[in-house]
Amino acid sequence: MAFEGLAERLQNTIKKMTGKGKVSEQDVKEMAREVRLALLEADVNFKVVKDFIKKIKERAVGQEVMNSLTPGQQIIKIVKEELTDLMGGEQSKIAVSERPPTVIMMVGLQGAGKTTTTGKLANLLRKKHNRKPLLVAADVYRPAAINQLETIGKQLNLPVFSKGTDANPVDIANDAIAHAKEEHYDYVLIDTAGRLHTDENLMTELREIKENVDPAEILLVVDSMTGQDAVNVAESFDEQLAVSGVILTKLDNDNRGGAALSIRAVTQKPIKYAGMGEKLDELEVFHPERMASRILGMGDVLSLIEKAQENVDEKKAKELEEKMRSATFTFDDFLDQMEQVKSMGPLEDLLGMIPGANKMKGLKNAQIDEKQLVYVEAIIHSMTKKEREDPSIMNASRKKRIAKGAGRPVSEVNRLLKQFEEMKKMMKQMSGMQKGKKGKKKKG
Ligand code: GDP
Repeated sequence: MAFEGLAERLQNTIKKMTGKGKVSEQDVKEMAREVRLALLEADVNFKVVKDFIKKIKERAVGQEVMNSLTPGQQIIKIVKEELTDLMGGEQSKIAVSERPPTVIMMVGLQGAGKTTTTGKLANLLRKKHNRKPLLVAADVYRPAAINQLETIGKQLNLPVFSKGTDANPVDIANDAIAHAKEEHYDYVLIDTAGRLHTDENLMTELREIKENVDPAEILLVVDSMTGQDAVNVAESFDEQLAVSGVILTKLDNDNRGGAALSIRAVTQKPIKYAGMGEKLDELEVFHPERMASRILGMGDVLSLIEKAQENVDEKKAKELEEKMRSATFTFDDFLDQMEQVKSMGPLEDLLGMIPGANKMKGLKNAQIDEKQLVYVEAIIHSMTKKEREDPSIMNASRKKRIAKGAGRPVSEVNRLLKQFEEMKKMMKQMSGMQKGKKGKKKKG
C-alpha cells in the first residue's frame, strides 16, 4: 500500500491521543515531536515539516481543543485537516478548453512513467469522462519511445498520431492538433521527449512546443519513489515551463510519501493524478482529503464505492443476489464474483480503504496471499460444468483427479467444497431470516 511506513508511524502516534479526556501542552509537544520525526523519516521536505508542525501545535493548544470534551479526537481532526491542506486541500480537476481539442503536454524525466501515464490518462478520460482522446508521439530521439506509445495505444484501442523520428516535435504537435480538429477528437495528449536529467536543450524544445500549441495543461510526471529528488525536478520544470499540475507515479510502491507530501507545498502546483500500479487502468484522481484519511488509517470509503461502481456489473450483481437468496449459487457464480472483486485491484489496497481494517485483529499483519485465490480458481476450473453446478456429484476419485488437474493437494479440494457448502447453508439461513422479516412487516 502507498505510504505504509509513514501511515503506521503516524497512526501509532495519534493513537495515544485518541481516548484522552484531557490534553496537556506537554502531550501536544510530545505528539508534535513524534509527528515531526515521522515526516522527516518519510523524506518530507524540511521546511514543509517545520511549517506543518508549527500549525499543528498552534491549533492543538488553542481553544478548539482545550475546551473540547474529546480533545484527543479534536487533535486527530486537526492533523487530518492539515495533511489534507498540505496535499492541496481540494481535488484539482483537469482543464477542458472551450473550443476542442483540449491540448495537454505531458512532460517529465525518462523513467518517471511519462509514456505509460499518457496512455493511462487517455484511458481515464475516455472511461470516466466519455472523451475521445488522441495520443501524440513527440519524443523523436528515441524510436523505442514511439514504439512504446504505439503499443500502449494498441492495448487500449486508442489512436496514436506519429510521424516517426525524422519530423520536428513542433510540427508533429501542430499536425496532430489539425488532425484532431478534423476528426473531432476532444483531447490531444502530447508525449514529449524525456531525458535522464533536465538540460537546456530539452527545456528549449519543450518551450517551443508550448508556445506553438498553447496547451490547456502542462502536466509534469514525477516518480514519487525518488522523494526529494522528485520535488527538485518539479521545481526546475516549473521554473522553465510553468507547469499546471503534477502526476505522481508509482505511489503503489512508495512506502514513505515524501514527494506526495512536499511537492504541493514547495511548488504550489496541484497533484492531479496518482499512478497506483503498472497496469493501464491504475491511475487515480488525486483527492487530498481521501489520501490524508488513508494515511491516518481512517479508510477511504468514497474511493472504495467508486471502484465498486466502476468495476462491478450491476446487472450481474442483481442476478447474484437473487441466486444467493434462492440458494442456487454455483461454483460458476463464485468464479464470476471473484473476477469482479479482483478487477477492483489488489486486496491489500482495498482493505486500506476500509476504516479501521488496519486495526482489526488478525488483519493488521495479515499478508494477503493472492496466490490462494489463484489456487481456488484452478481447482474450480478443473471441475466439469456439471460438477460446478452440483458439487455433490463428485466422488472421491473425481476429487483426486480434480486436485491433480489443479496441481493442489486433495485436502484443499475438500476444504473448498466444505466452505462452499457452508456458505450456501448460511445464505439459506439469511434468506430465511429476510423472508421472516418481510412477512412480519406485512402483517403489522
Ligand atoms: P518514461 O520513460 O517516463 O516514459 O517511463 P515509462 O512510461 O516507460 O515507465 C517506466 C516504468 O515505470 C515502466 O516499467 C512502467 O511500467 C513503470 N510505471 C509507470 N507508472 C507506474 C506506477 O504508477 N506504478 C508502478 N508500479 N510502475 C509504474
